[in-house]
Amino acid sequence: MKAVYGPVRSWRLGLAMGVDPICKQPKVCNLKCIYCRLGHGGIMITERSRFVDEKQVQEEARELLKTVKIDAVMLQGTGEPFLAKNLIDIVHALREETDMPICVMTNGSFFNREGILDELNEFDMVIVKLDAADPVCFSMMNRPHGSIIFEDLVESLKKAKRQCTCDLRIQVTFVRANMYQAEQIADICRDIGVDVVYLSTPVRKEGMDLNKKDMNDLAAIFNGFKVRTIFDERSADTS
Ligand code: SF4
Repeated sequence: MKAVYGPVRSWRLGLAMGVDPICKQPKVCNLKCIYCRLGHGGIMITERSRFVDEKQVQEEARELLKTVKIDAVMLQGTGEPFLAKNLIDIVHALREETDMPICVMTNGSFFNREGILDELNEFDMVIVKLDAADPVCFSMMNRPHGSIIFEDLVESLKKAKRQCTCDLRIQVTFVRANMYQAEQIADICRDIGVDVVYLSTPVRKEGMDLNKKDMNDLAAIFNGFKVRTIFDERSADTS
């Protein structure tokens, strides 16, 4: 299984080279989100481990970059990227191959761990998942490992936004079941202090996804943020 894939046309980043720091099938994660594109199976762990070798990632990236010009690098794959304990070694290896912004898509569950705020600063952009405004909805949407506490997660996001130099953004995935929390989620985003909010819906999960009108209605609730929905025209947004 290759760690580097794409390039893929990302609705948030433009043409992105994907890097999977986990490379495991089934997935390895500490959540089991109801809409996960990787399915409901997989291995649930909370301790970090080494899944792929950073030199292998570097070689694969070098090969791909010989043939394409990208807008960004996106670390996202078969599980939570911060479960990879060599994540920052991977970032350093990628920096030797490209000057493009390096972004990570994360569920934020590691933000309260020692040393992680320094790791966040190694990225140009960090996009964090936030699909709920209270523990009940969090359990329903994200089905976390028992050690992950919703209130701690939100507090660690606020701390990360205050203390990190990286560009921290929020992504909210909406399905019918969490639409009722949109206003409260927007309030939490305000408390965290982010400027950019991405609104997604699982377009590949038939019956679970929302339509364009639903997403536009939700975008109106996030008034005051720079909002982009999964239906908006795709273009690079890494500035
Ligand atoms: S955090 Fe991401 S990889 Fe993990 S279950 Fe949720 S959607 Fe899937």
